[in-house]
Amino acid sequence: MSNIDLHVHTIHSDGTLTVEALLNLAVSKGLTCISITDHDTFDAYATAPEIAKSLGVELVTGIEISSVSDGRDIHILGYFCDVGNAELLAALESQREKRKDRVKAILEKLRNLGLKLSYEQVEQQCLGASISRPHIASAMVEARHVNSFSEAFDLYLKEGAAAYCPPRGLSSEDAISLIKKSGGLAVMAHPEYTNADELIPRLVKYGIAGLEVYNYKTTKSVKKYKNIAKRHGLIETGGSDFHGGPSTLGLQKLPYSIVEKLRAKLQ
Ligand code: AMP
Ligand code: MN
Ligand code: MN
Ligand code: MN
Repeated sequence: MSNIDLHVHTIHSDGTLTVEALLNLAVSKGLTCISITDHDTFDAYATAPEIAKSLGVELVTGIEISSVSDGRDIHILGYFCDVGNAELLAALESQREKRKDRVKAILEKLRNLGLKLSYEQVEQQCLGASISRPHIASAMVEARHVNSFSEAFDLYLKEGAAAYCPPRGLSSEDAISLIKKSGGLAVMAHPEYTNADELIPRLVKYGIAGLEVYNYKTTKSVKKYKNIAKRHGLIETGGSDFHGGPSTLGLQKLPYSIVEKLRAKLQ
C-alpha cells in the first residue's frame, strides 16, 4: 500500500534536514507522496519540485501558516497554493518579519530572567528565512543556559512559560482567506496539540476544508477529531510534523485517498 505524509519541515523553517535530504529520506521510508509545509515560507519550493521529480516522489505544494485567534497560536496548513501568488508572498514576508520581532521580545524576557543570549546567537541556529522558538531553544542549549532542547521549551518557551510571548501573526481568518485566494485549501493543523477545539467552528466558518486528524503523536484523539471532522464536513488529513531527528516519517500509515479527496475539493 502506498503511504503519504502531508506535514514535514526542512531547514527553510525549523526542520534540520535540507530539502534534498528530506526527500531522499521520504523515498527510503517508502513514501509515494509528500507535502513540505514549512512555517511561513515557500522557500523549499525553489528546489523541491525538481528533486521530487528526479526521485519519483509526488510533491504536494504546502505551507504551515502561524495565525492567531483569540490570542491563541493556530497553525493553518495550506495545500496546492500558487507559490508565486504575490499577495500570499507579501503576507508571508510580513509574517517572517514579525517572527524576528517576537524572537527579540522573547530574548528580552530571557535577559530579564538573567539568561543572556544575543539575536545573532539565535540567528546562527536558523539556516532559512523563518526564525522561530526552536532556534532560540538550540541557542540556549549551545550557550549552556539549559541542559536540553525540551528543557528550554518546558522552562521558558512554551505557552505560559516564563519567557513566552504570544505570536504576532495573521488572524486565522486572513490566513485561511489568503490560502484560498491563492488557489489552495486550508487545513487546521494538529488540533490535539493546539488544544482550542472551541475555535474549530469559527475556522469552519472562515473556510477550512480539512482537519489534521492523523498524526503519529496524537493517536488517542483520532476518534474525537474524526467525529468533529465528520460533523463539519471536513476532510481528514494527516502527517508526521517531522522536523528532523529520529525519523517519524512513514510511521503513521496514511492512504493516498486523502490526496484524492483534497484534489476533488479543489475542483
Ligand atoms: P514558533 O513558530 O516560533 O512559535 O515555534 C513553534 C515551533 O516550536 C513548533 O512548530 C514546533 O516545531 C516547536 N515546538 C513548539 N512547542 C514545543 C515544545 N513544547 N517542545 C519542543 N518543540 C516545540
Ligand atoms: Mn515547527
Ligand atoms: Mn504546527
Ligand atoms: Mn508543523
